[in-house]
Amino acid sequence: MHAIATLKPDSRFVAHVAPSPNHDERTGVAAPDILLLHYTGMRDMQSALDRLLSREARVSSHYLVCEDGAMLQLVAEADRAWHAGASFWERGNDINSRSIGIEIVNPGHEFGYRDFPEAQIAAVIELTQDIVARWSIRPDRVLGHSDVAPSRKDDPGERFPWRRLAEAGVGLWVPPAPIDAGPVLGPGDLGDEVAAMQQAFAAYGYGIAPTGVYDTLTAQVVIAFQRHFRTERVDGRADLSTIHTLHALLAAKQAIAGGKAPARKP
Ligand SMILES: [Zn+2]
Repeated sequence: MHAIATLKPDSRFVAHVAPSPNHDERTGVAAPDILLLHYTGMRDMQSALDRLLSREARVSSHYLVCEDGAMLQLVAEADRAWHAGASFWERGNDINSRSIGIEIVNPGHEFGYRDFPEAQIAAVIELTQDIVARWSIRPDRVLGHSDVAPSRKDDPGERFPWRRLAEAGVGLWVPPAPIDAGPVLGPGDLGDEVAAMQQAFAAYGYGIAPTGVYDTLTAQVVIAFQRHFRTERVDGRADLSTIHTLHALLAAKQAIAGGKAPARKP
């Protein structure tokens, strides 16, 4: 444990700190191996910052990136910040212990979701490139909050430019398969095709079991996937484009998952 007053930026791209009391020790992991991105989902930057620093709110993140590109560090990367809540990815919960969390200022779906300004995205790219390099975080483990909590969360949402990050070396992304006519699975459907699709989402990392029932959770996982990887139509229905994009991602993941060294401390 260390005193809040000693907080210093872990990234050379971050000039300012605003220490949050809301953190504790990581448990059960040697080093963070997930980078989790959020939007703040509040009216403005100051309300978001106030909340992230409020002892009563009991939430925090490691970083806050403002719309003008200014970046603040709130919690040391070595510590566990409290941003993920109840969440799951690839056989693991306690995503807070496994991850570094970045809050990106945007009003979000509740208060007027809008495009992320260029200066803000440039800052996010700089910061995330630095974090994934220092901690050797695998591309397929750069995730949105909605990926790890699809039944509760929508952030950072379909306007977040995942493709640009991937082109800058951050995160896994494949060109989405074109939307085309063809069979679509949707709420209420039952059977082996639904189970196979659920199995593919689970293999990618989503918290879903192959029940064969296209239930509410299934639709929520499909929406989370579409927000991240196939943003042209976010409707919770598994059309062929969604399923083909998922399988292309799985192949890309399998290609990288074998050969990388485990995460290490910088
Ligand atoms: Zn979030």
